[in-house]
Amino acid sequence: MRRHRHAKIVATVGPATNSPEMLRNLFLAGVDTFRLNFSHGVQEDHARVHAAIRTLEKEVGRPIGILQDLQGPKIRVGTVAGGRLDLVAGETIRFVLDGADGDKNAIPLRHPEIFAAVVPGQDLLIDDGRVRVRVTGLEAATITAEVVTGGAISNRKGVNLPGTLLDLSPLTEKDRADLAFGLELGVDWVALSFVQRPSDLIEARGIIGDRAGIMSKIEKPQALERIEDIIRLSDAVMVARGDLGVEIPHEDVPGRQKELIRACRLAVKPVIVATQMLDSMVGSPAPTRAEASDVATAIYDGADAVMLSAESATGRYPVEAVGMMDRIIRSVEGHKLYHSLIAASEPGEEETPPHAVATATADLAEAVKAAAIVAYTASGTTAARVARKRPKAPILALTPNLATSRRLSLLWGAHSVLTRDVESYEEMTANAAHHARTEGFAEPNDIIVTTAGIPFHTTGNTNNIRLIQV
Ligand code: PGA
Ligand code: MN
Repeated sequence: MRRHRHAKIVATVGPATNSPEMLRNLFLAGVDTFRLNFSHGVQEDHARVHAAIRTLEKEVGRPIGILQDLQGPKIRVGTVAGGRLDLVAGETIRFVLDGADGDKNAIPLRHPEIFAAVVPGQDLLIDDGRVRVRVTGLEAATITAEVVTGGAISNRKGVNLPGTLLDLSPLTEKDRADLAFGLELGVDWVALSFVQRPSDLIEARGIIGDRAGIMSKIEKPQALERIEDIIRLSDAVMVARGDLGVEIPHEDVPGRQKELIRACRLAVKPVIVATQMLDSMVGSPAPTRAEASDVATAIYDGADAVMLSAESATGRYPVEAVGMMDRIIRSVEGHKLYHSLIAASEPGEEETPPHAVATATADLAEAVKAAAIVAYTASGTTAARVARKRPKAPILALTPNLATSRRLSLLWGAHSVLTRDVESYEEMTANAAHHARTEGFAEPNDIIVTTAGIPFHTTGNTNNIRLIQV
């Protein structure tokens, strides 16, 4: 079975969709990668979902990606008296390092890193930025602040400090335990929340190694300042617009999205656009026109994948939301302006022989109107380099590596197939033609273009192009 689109769909699993039956429905509606959100739920539930997806994978005979999203150092207020405080603009409040069930003069904020980093004049944002307070005084265990934008705050609401580099590892103790659990399960991707600096990736890589791909969630302005290094050290990137849109002004998010997609395409790393894409479908069977346009924009921008959060985790119409994304993507990719727009936003390429070969492969496929490009890829890099060109032909990624076949379910245009290792050039061409036919990409006499690194069994040395008539 093959999908008739290039861009991929990521769906977050939650109470609305964690049954084997719903997972199957979501896959059939178009989900390529499932996201397990470790900010919610317990490990045992995630393990059950993981097992159900692996069972589904066997049943449908297609590799499916599993993304473990770690909570990260999300800062939260503690509990307040009565569970809720109404803050009024202009009034003075205090945060304290210790205590529980505080009032306006003692809102618990059990994060010493914040007390170490804030300075008077700085703003704290509470509950996705709904409430804004400005620091006016600072003592060892008390922060005094004036309410700028009032509103209610309730227990354990999130706190953002835009513009402050906090002395926090992206991996909390909970994250480390969840990560060990996820790696043991065999997740394909690990997403790090609130990445701030390149060294965060080095720290995570030290634990993860190559057992999973590392995805940096870009949701802090500090990460934007070091973005090139962060992308270089990551295997994929998420434009995490939920928190990013709290930390930077709303009006700057769309431009940042375009920048991030372009930078990832240049670096040949898959990029996901995430959060609130079809948000009204949490409670309604149809999206707003603006939401449909948002998904379309991400596709015109050249994103590898678009993501559903609450829509598929807790919403009433998860299957419909996936179906809607699928239709929007296919409509955009079939639109007459799509290829010229995507070609116009191509960021150039690294000037290395493997990149030049991948680019030539895509160009050749275009010139001969190839039915498919077949990329032999051990690590997935060869397929990713071809995908950077965003060719019209589908990319059949043949790999002997199970982990690679699953990770490729995030890559634009890639249809991955787990295949035996080929030993000779003749075997490679025969195998390519065979899979192009059996996977439904080519008919007899169609032309396909293959690319590979020869000798086989070495990674990253894309150096061969071959035109084959099936
Ligand atoms: P979250 O990340 O859903 O884990 O918060 C995505 C975002 O912030 O957009
Ligand atoms: Mn977030």
